[in-house]
Amino acid sequence: CGIFAYLNYNVSRERRYVLEVLLNGLRRLEYRGYDSSGIAVDADLPAPPAPGSAPPAPGSAPPPYAGAPPLVYRQEGKIENLVRSVYAEVDEKDVNLDAAFNVHAGIAHTRWATHGVPAPRNSHPQSSGAGDEFLVVHNGIITNYEVLKETLTRHGFTFESDTDTEVIPKLAKFVFDKAHDGEGDVTFSQVVNEVMRQLEGAYALIFKSPHYPNELIACKRGSTLILGVNELSGQKSGKSFNDVKALTANGKPKELFFSSDLCAIVEHTKNYLAIEDNEIVHIKDGSVSILKFDHDKEKPASVQRALSV
Ligand code: GLU
Repeated sequence: CGIFAYLNYNVSRERRYVLEVLLNGLRRLEYRGYDSSGIAVDADLPAPPAPGSAPPAPGSAPPPYAGAPPLVYRQEGKIENLVRSVYAEVDEKDVNLDAAFNVHAGIAHTRWATHGVPAPRNSHPQSSGAGDEFLVVHNGIITNYEVLKETLTRHGFTFESDTDTEVIPKLAKFVFDKAHDGEGDVTFSQVVNEVMRQLEGAYALIFKSPHYPNELIACKRGSTLILGVNELSGQKSGKSFNDVKALTANGKPKELFFSSDLCAIVEHTKNYLAIEDNEIVHIKDGSVSILKFDHDKEKPASVQRALSV
């Protein structure tokens, strides 16, 4: 199947633009899988606190979400079915297409089912459950999903799909909750490293979470994954590692992409990098870090390829 993501940083993009980039990415990838598809985009930002309202008391519990739950659309059939249902729902629920985001992280998927019939509930993004605390798009197969499903069910998770993929976002929530019950904090890449430790099979994954707003993580073992970077204010172009590195300097307006295939990236940028097996790519604050998966620990090893300068 095909996975795709688009993150704009320090450049204003309206929701209608973000939706079109994601849906166009899926149109390019449709040859890889076409029985169902889906996308997740950000909800509008919560209203700022009223002027003069009291700041939160020191030591008070943080809100359960750093960001609002994303908007998720899933549909069976061809990409154009998804396109129609996205815009029908946008109309019906009065979603604001003019809402502008200075940073926005969107993910998308076109499916070729291996586990579970083509149906909206089996389409990706697959979810950790109510509130969509973790959303995952997946290309590949998780071979040990049955045993993971059993374990997670024992821990109180209920499953809504027949996919192998659904264990992944639920594992992420399990790891996240466990860390918060214990010492307190866990980074997005630590969560993903721990999830990878549990997974067997072949996969390329992209994770999105309102716990880590404006961040995206992708990782892979076996399947193809490309990172693209479009530095909007610069003239540079090239496709070597150093060219990409030069384009990821913090603070510069840019667009970042993940895709299963170059064909969905080349219309946006010539700067791209093939991700290697067991790499965890973390986009945060507009910078990209490529971490090496660590088998032994619950956190990724030192930065393997630091793209932030
Ligand atoms: N195994 C996953 C599923 O059946 C992903 C299939 C794909 O790569 O499209 O949902």
